[in-house]
Amino acid sequence: MSDEEDCDCLVVIVDVNPVWWGQRSKSSHQITLTECIENVLVFVNSHLMMKHTNQIAIIASHTHESRFLYPRRNSESTDATDEIRSADGKYELFALVDNTVMEEFKKLMTESHTGSVHTDTLLSGSLAMALCYINKLDKKSKVGVKRRSRILVIKASDDSASQYMNFMNVIFTAQKQNVLIDACVLGNDSGLLQQACDISHGIYLKIPQIKGLVQYLLWVFLPAASLRDTLVLPPAIQVDYRAACFCHRTLVDVGYVCSVCLSIFCQFSPICSTCHTAFKFMGPPSMKSKKKKSSLPAS
Ligand SMILES: [Zn+2]
Ligand SMILES: [Zn+2]
Repeated sequence: MSDEEDCDCLVVIVDVNPVWWGQRSKSSHQITLTECIENVLVFVNSHLMMKHTNQIAIIASHTHESRFLYPRRNSESTDATDEIRSADGKYELFALVDNTVMEEFKKLMTESHTGSVHTDTLLSGSLAMALCYINKLDKKSKVGVKRRSRILVIKASDDSASQYMNFMNVIFTAQKQNVLIDACVLGNDSGLLQQACDISHGIYLKIPQIKGLVQYLLWVFLPAASLRDTLVLPPAIQVDYRAACFCHRTLVDVGYVCSVCLSIFCQFSPICSTCHTAFKFMGPPSMKSKKKKSSLPAS
């Protein structure tokens, strides 16, 4: 049957920013990071249960690195299933996923980190890793197998405007590869993810109650993308399409754009700091004094 050859690949990116989770865990309305990971495990196991050809990967997005929690590095997800002998009659793949994710997660969180301290989550890097992983699976898949891939981002911490460029590159790559990006936002609204979901036709949802995370995951993000037209999903949101200026990384409504490289600036500068183009601009006649001309850099 041709239907047997269909394969839904889901990559879940979890924001494990310890600063954000550390601030939240004290409140009773919140869940801890470990509970969040457990909710994600319920969700990915449900995805695997939908069809035996379904595939999953989980990436933890930390402040200093992005790491695969599943599949383990240097191991193939399909070969490793033989290692697990389930004692309690649990489906072997579930046991393998649960154990691997929990082990890798503990390893990541307990490792001591020397060097510079960042507080931003490296989300654009994690998205790039997810796209590379999907691309690798696509290249290895047999002829005739219909693969559909999507990425779900579970985002906690705030956006960092310094990642704006990388983020935009990742979003347009996803669009080109036909990869959906869904976002489940736990903290403040994310302008970058709103744009990502809008461009790649994914769902953006800022969940009102973090305690109900697993329910939102199962109701909204579990059904395959092909079924979404038949479901009543949360309405599309108003997307914040402001861009970040390249000089200060702040979001601007109106700015200056370099006509050569399309870099965005909040203030006028005679030389583009990205491509070093010197602009020969024609001011009003009164401005054409010798002093003004001499201040222009020679090109
Ligand atoms: Zn600026
Ligand atoms: Zn330029």
